[in-house]
Amino acid sequence: MTDTEQDWHSVEKDRLYAAFETSPQGLDDADAAARLDRHGPNRLPQARARSWYARLAGHIHNALIYVMIAASLITFFMDHVVDSIVIALVVVVNTVIGYIQEGKAEKAMEAIREMMAPHASVMRGGRRLTIEARNIVPGDLVILEAGDRVPADLRLIQARALRIDEAALTGESVPVEKHEDRLPQSTPLAERADMAFSGTFVAAGQGTGVAVATAASTELGRINAMLEDVETLKTPLLRQMDLLAGRLTTIIIGVAALLFVFAHYVRDYTVSDAFMTVVGFAVAVVPEGLPAVMTIALAIGVNRMAKRNAIVRRLPAVETLGAVSVICTDKTGTLTRNEMVVGRIVTVDGAVDVSGEGYGPDGSFFAGGKPVDPSRDKVLSDLCLAALLCNDAALRHSNGHWTVDGDPMEGALACLAAKAGYAVDETRRNHPRLDEIPFDAAHRFMATLHHDHETGRSFMIVKGAPEQIIAMSARTCGGGGFAPVDAGYWSAAVESMAALGQRVLGIAVKEMPAGTIGLVFDDALDGLTILGLTGLIDPPRAEAIDAVADCRRAGIRVVMITGDHAATALAIARQLKLSDAPVVLSGHELDAMDDEELHRVAREVDVFARANPAHKLRLVRALQADGDVIAMTGDGVNDAPALKQADVGVAMGRKGTEVAKESAEIILVDDNFASIAAAVREGRTVYDNLRKVIAWTIPTNVGEVLAIVIAVMFGMALPLTPVQILWINMVTSVGLGLVLAFEPTEPGTMARPPRRSGESLVSRFMLWRIAFVSCLFAASAFGVYNYALSKGLPLEAAHTMVVNVIVVLEMFYLFSVRYVHGTSLTLRGVIGTGPVLAGVALITAAQFAFTYSPFMNTVFGTYPIALTDGLLIVAAGVVFLFLVECEKRLWRR
Ligand code: ATP
Repeated sequence: MTDTEQDWHSVEKDRLYAAFETSPQGLDDADAAARLDRHGPNRLPQARARSWYARLAGHIHNALIYVMIAASLITFFMDHVVDSIVIALVVVVNTVIGYIQEGKAEKAMEAIREMMAPHASVMRGGRRLTIEARNIVPGDLVILEAGDRVPADLRLIQARALRIDEAALTGESVPVEKHEDRLPQSTPLAERADMAFSGTFVAAGQGTGVAVATAASTELGRINAMLEDVETLKTPLLRQMDLLAGRLTTIIIGVAALLFVFAHYVRDYTVSDAFMTVVGFAVAVVPEGLPAVMTIALAIGVNRMAKRNAIVRRLPAVETLGAVSVICTDKTGTLTRNEMVVGRIVTVDGAVDVSGEGYGPDGSFFAGGKPVDPSRDKVLSDLCLAALLCNDAALRHSNGHWTVDGDPMEGALACLAAKAGYAVDETRRNHPRLDEIPFDAAHRFMATLHHDHETGRSFMIVKGAPEQIIAMSARTCGGGGFAPVDAGYWSAAVESMAALGQRVLGIAVKEMPAGTIGLVFDDALDGLTILGLTGLIDPPRAEAIDAVADCRRAGIRVVMITGDHAATALAIARQLKLSDAPVVLSGHELDAMDDEELHRVAREVDVFARANPAHKLRLVRALQADGDVIAMTGDGVNDAPALKQADVGVAMGRKGTEVAKESAEIILVDDNFASIAAAVREGRTVYDNLRKVIAWTIPTNVGEVLAIVIAVMFGMALPLTPVQILWINMVTSVGLGLVLAFEPTEPGTMARPPRRSGESLVSRFMLWRIAFVSCLFAASAFGVYNYALSKGLPLEAAHTMVVNVIVVLEMFYLFSVRYVHGTSLTLRGVIGTGPVLAGVALITAAQFAFTYSPFMNTVFGTYPIALTDGLLIVAAGVVFLFLVECEKRLWRR
């Protein structure tokens, strides 16, 4: 085996197998493990992370930090060396904390994304397995299907209608046709149609290839192209904040200059005092800890969602989720359990019910309540045989439990054949598959060509959506002979099964000329003999029923979009209680509408049946035109455009293709609708918490600014010094504000309507609240300051009391802000949560140190105040809380 050989496209298959010491059975496990040791994991090249110094610089390159650095320099030259050092230290600490926090948050995101590492199908030891793409080794036989990302460079040994999108490699977005025939050695890379390259996407068809290069040796690795941009932690909200901060800085500089002029020339402050005032002002305005706290709140949200089985791939989705007003969801496997069992069969002779649960072979057949022996009923046994052969699923018995490898619906069909007495593996061996037309959601059927070892005949089996099968069939088989198709009989049978919520599938056969070895699409389109229909039971998930009810209470509409039959979908929609009287629209009807009409009816329809991915895209657009925020689920290769168009694309973690996952913002680990509802709830919580962090932080800053501005206006000394302001902003604001990032979901969060998209984070109500609370902060600061001075206490004691009163108010306000939508004066509100109590305890201890430790007294210019004065300050806090809660109550009236 040589790694250096790169002309695999010109090599014969036999030589290829020999070169990689492999065979059509694939490698065995031991060999694969040894090769993995030798070649290392097959990691797709990722974009390189930013260097540590670039990231550090990112934290320093911030207008607000520049203001602080300027403040530090100014104070230094004004001979306030201690202040200068404290300010500089704050800059350093702030930068380092921001840097560490960002690193942590990035790591956490990375770990969460790792949970959804790409997978691939390989043949190992003659069996088809799904493994993590990073475990693929040179020589592995890799199976490709529509929607897969090619996990390594492959030399194709089989390709069926295989088309691959090679944009990742060549930039050309039109998928290229692939085949298995070897090409001349001189063929340029872009024209090597017998190769599939790592990082490209399978747009359609199927194929198998031998891995000839993995990881960095692949073409993609060689050109060192990046597959994915490294996600930054910036969301629209944080970006908005940055923008705001930038504008704020300009204003700060302007106001600071005015303040200096006013203080020095009008109020006769010395130059030094005027400068210190300006520094105090600048330091007060800037909410130093806010960005870090907000980033942490988002990261916590991502973590909570991961615990609820929703992996966030793009951070902004956390915010958007909270605003979702319509969830468009698939039916099968998301709303339903996708553990199928055939409950009924209809042939030309009538209906037969099938008993048995799960995928085990135990079950019986009954017609009109009487047992039937399928082996004595030719049509019935032919139908079960066809269901087994035109089928890619395998049944497995392990730990006393039967499970399916592959599509659960096909598993149920294989199980049906087992119940009818067929030995699954042996029967398949005796009727080898010569060719196939794979299932595609666009034509809704699949076909296989078989050879019967016993009789030597060739025949094709087609299974698919019943309308399709009925339309393509020329005759029926039963009652001892053939008869023309009675479309009325079959349609009535479909309707009656679908009305029970069963998923109906038609099965038909066609004799092919002896010696046929290949199928073309047109073979399946007519002249079939219909054997019958199968009705598959797939009940709704219990938790989905609850989640739908939760969504409806939360003002979120749930719309089902399914490839299934209208009657089946409607029956399931009723069981799920999607609406009081669910309305269904079929793909056909949708096709007949123009965008305008669709826009009108989209608001009323709960179920879109027989819908294809193109319908999904039109539908998202129609709903978005009303200003709705849409979450849309998808799993197939063709779902990518709809997932991208939706505000929140949600891909299925289990049955979703790699293409769907890469197009989505969120991946559901368990494919479960209830996880979407849970994620929306977390999204709302995160948004609420961000608002709380802002609503809580800003009044402190505005209060401080007001105190300074008022002091200057009246020509008084500042009630607190710049370093004391920094202490409040950096230590207490971060310590207490962080608590809000951990806030659990408020009661009633899922009982209010979704917030409107584009609604500003700071509502008018919040602006008022901020203004009101800021005034209370400023008034308390001045009240305490004047009280201290009037008692004849030293200036340092007055300053210390002012700092303490602001911090105490912050603590009380923390309890108030925790419930934006209700009173905080409840047992639950007063007791708080672990983080709240820890935060309050920590900051209380810090305040005691700040006030009474000699070291802090020197650094911050504080003074050990009398305990009675401390009690007065706490009393001020109680009065403050009472006022704020009264205001809340007034507003709610
Ligand atoms: P949902 O979109 O809710 O997941 P779905 O899985 O039924 O619904 P599709 O996979 O597009 O949607 O299937 C559409 C129809 O095609 C099915 O109702 C069924 O009649 C038919 N069908 C699905 N899978 C197969 C298959 N493997 N072989 C033949 N026919 C199939």
